[in-house]
Amino acid sequence: MGQPAQRKGDLNNLGAEIAGVTDNKVKVNGELLSTDGSSVQDHLLVNNVNIHVNTRTANGSSTVKSGGVPVNRTTDADSCGHTRVGGSSNVNIG
Ligand SMILES: [Zn+2]
Repeated sequence: MGQPAQRKGDLNNLGAEIAGVTDNKVKVNGELLSTDGSSVQDHLLVNNVNIHVNTRTANGSSTVKSGGVPVNRTTDADSCGHTRVGGSSNVNIG
């Protein structure tokens, strides 16, 4: 049921980490659990310039929230459209 929880340091399908989780203090596996609006590393290098900048996590769970903000899961699309991969091996979010 559900998909793996996304935490600070987890990647999207271009290898961009969740760099900063600002609105949530809950930890999963020792890392901050990500909620919509977490910052994502710049990525998608074209001619040596990252063209996906100021990306945020988005499209989190409609039913599982932390501090009123949707919790992010593997397969959620970031604001740029790339999708979250990996995630927790033992904590799933509906
Ligand atoms: Zn992207």
